[in-house]
Amino acid sequence: MSVFQSDTLKADIDERIPDLVAMRRDLHEHPETAFEEVRTSNIVAQRLKALNLEVQTGVAKTGVVGLLRGEAAGEQVRTIAIRADMDALPILEQTEVDYRSQVDGKMHACGHDGHTSILLTVADILSRRRDELKGNIKFIFQPAEEVVGGAEPMVKEGAIDGADGVIGLHLISGQPLGKVGVRSGTVFASADKLALTVHGRGGHGGMPSTTVDPIVIASHIITALQMLISRETLPFSPAVVTIGTIHGGTASNIIPETVELTGTMRAWSAEHRAYLTRRIQEVASGVAMALGGSCDVRVFDGCPACVNDEQMTALVHQAAIDAVGEENVLVGESVLTTGADDMAYFLNAVPGCYFIVGAGEEEKGSIYPHHHPRFNINEGALPIAVETLVRSALAFLQ
Ligand SMILES: [Zn+2]
Ligand SMILES: [Zn+2]
Repeated sequence: MSVFQSDTLKADIDERIPDLVAMRRDLHEHPETAFEEVRTSNIVAQRLKALNLEVQTGVAKTGVVGLLRGEAAGEQVRTIAIRADMDALPILEQTEVDYRSQVDGKMHACGHDGHTSILLTVADILSRRRDELKGNIKFIFQPAEEVVGGAEPMVKEGAIDGADGVIGLHLISGQPLGKVGVRSGTVFASADKLALTVHGRGGHGGMPSTTVDPIVIASHIITALQMLISRETLPFSPAVVTIGTIHGGTASNIIPETVELTGTMRAWSAEHRAYLTRRIQEVASGVAMALGGSCDVRVFDGCPACVNDEQMTALVHQAAIDAVGEENVLVGESVLTTGADDMAYFLNAVPGCYFIVGAGEEEKGSIYPHHHPRFNINEGALPIAVETLVRSALAFLQ
């Protein structure tokens, strides 16, 4: 389904590429981390106001919401929300680009500078067609995705209220330029932090029988937790338990009182997330008790999985085909990640689709992963993302 004559839309986008790239580079030079996106959200708000949108600022501290009211709406007005995240990371940039970060220790190393510029460009294009729009469009600019802290309060403060669907995208450096990945069901995992304290009874390293050794207990717990993946998780349902830190002990000949472990748990569904949460506590406490100690387990509520709605996905899938051609639309496992994204809170609020847009260098052998000090995106991905979003929004409002 082509909503516009594609050449009109392509021309609209082409005309805006210089501004789109300049905007992204300006944001890249001035990165702001979670809940400190003051300059960024000022730029967003100013641009949205200049387009005559209804603008709400200070949503979840630094979030911005712009509402575009379509003027061709019938009696039943439908609203689609489009979400972009705005925050950078606490990383010292090590790229050689001339627009690299001007703030030591802060960097747009995940592509959110791109997301923000893409959505502002989408707002620009759509606002100039408001007389043809058969519904409303909400532009949601969220803070603090990287600390999984911005989306949930935005939802609580009503940012997604009134929307019937939500879409958004992540630029991905690991996928080649020209590809768009769209898939229904879970696409990003849930992520929860784990903190375990193993209690034993300390003493002399040469006389372990007079102690309860929490280091040996912790070792058994770490091994036993992996069985939750290898023995208790369906092979078709991805899940991860990683212990990332172990701290215990002060000297080679002393058995300490306690050992602290921290880690992360990833799951693919709310049910499996709840199952693993329960089993991690049972296994860790059970193993510790069997060996004469005890274990306190805390699972911090992290981020739910991003689960795409089938109908919304079909709509974005068609938009992606219209933008890049069917042969360039990825629908397989390459679209999936056990990374997490707090877009999940918007997807839990209304049916939606979160998709990926390839932003890798085609030929250079230097594709750095997200959150790497040399990370960069291929800016050719920006107009592709704009086109896919615009087409999806228009199709939704048809
Ligand atoms: Zn990130
Ligand atoms: Zn990101």
